[in-house]
Amino acid sequence: MISFYPGPSQVYDQVPAYVKDAFDAGVLGMNHRSDECMALVNETQSLLRDRLSIPDDYHIYFVSSATECWEIIAQSLAVDGSFHVFNGAFGQKWFDYTQRISKHANPKSFDREELIPLSSLNPQAKDVICITQNETSNGTQVNLGALSQLRASFPKNLIAVDATSSMAGIELNFSLGDIWFASVQKCFGLPAGLAILISSPKAREKFLQINERDYYNSLTFIDEMMAKRQTPYTPNVLGIYLLMRSLKDRPSIRTTAKIIRGRFSKWIDFIEQSRFQHLIANADARSYTVIPIRGQELEITRIKASAKAAGFLLGEGYGELKKNTFRIANFPALKDTELNALRQVLARINV
Ligand SMILES: *Cc1c(COP(=O)(O)O)cnc(C)c1O
Repeated sequence: MISFYPGPSQVYDQVPAYVKDAFDAGVLGMNHRSDECMALVNETQSLLRDRLSIPDDYHIYFVSSATECWEIIAQSLAVDGSFHVFNGAFGQKWFDYTQRISKHANPKSFDREELIPLSSLNPQAKDVICITQNETSNGTQVNLGALSQLRASFPKNLIAVDATSSMAGIELNFSLGDIWFASVQKCFGLPAGLAILISSPKAREKFLQINERDYYNSLTFIDEMMAKRQTPYTPNVLGIYLLMRSLKDRPSIRTTAKIIRGRFSKWIDFIEQSRFQHLIANADARSYTVIPIRGQELEITRIKASAKAAGFLLGEGYGELKKNTFRIANFPALKDTELNALRQVLARINV
């Protein structure tokens, strides 16, 4: 079965070989306070910085999931307030989780056909602005142009960006945000259980000043441990090893992003020639990495079943979109041959 699910998603073919190497090299039972593990963490950070073009002065941390990042931000950084701008289920969840931790979380939702409504945003100066760069649930994105305008409009605010389903797939300009995070089971093409949290010097200065220390995953504590290339709790060492090996085999993000954009265009052409529609009519709001396709409920049910019978797992529509849409991951681990094969199957069902 080839999985086009937008997370957890198909992993790179090399993963079994990496796991075997990890076992042979003693990584699976490696002590997380050992010199070997600290060297592994260090190497993985360097590779992330290099392959994803993360600025030298941004700090890189390892945690367990994007959901954990939502909570870390709420408890350790957005203590004076957060302003959540979203148009889909993941952005909404981020707000919901934050609200349980913080009394100063405010939502601003917008239509999925709209670009981020800059002129109607009114965050307080102390608010961390929370943006879901790529909304996996409905296949929209806040593109880098919009992020750049957001930065320029609110120069005093810290900006936190959920890039879970786009980091490692598109080229991000990290200077447009202060906190960036993603888990590895989407565009990184790796098994779940590890997330990357990135902080600008400005955000770091702020959380060090707040100095919140009530939790095992308080950012100050994570930062202190990472100075020694360690984590407060036993991390997913295998996950870090797989990330290190996988990054070594990947080109720079610019090369990957070009491939993803090319494949995205192909999907758009394909959809236009089919009797289905892209869920999002506004071309500027479309995600490059998650492609949501809309149709009649009966046809959608049929197409998912037929694709499955042919060996292709399509992503279910998310939440309220479940019945009328399916989603296709446009993640780097998928191969052109697989994409072409899926298009052939869809074209056949589509007659
Ligand atoms: C998948 C996803 C998450 C949740 O990731 P976990 O690693 O399961 O916590 C959060 N945000 C977005 C945008 C996602 O796509």
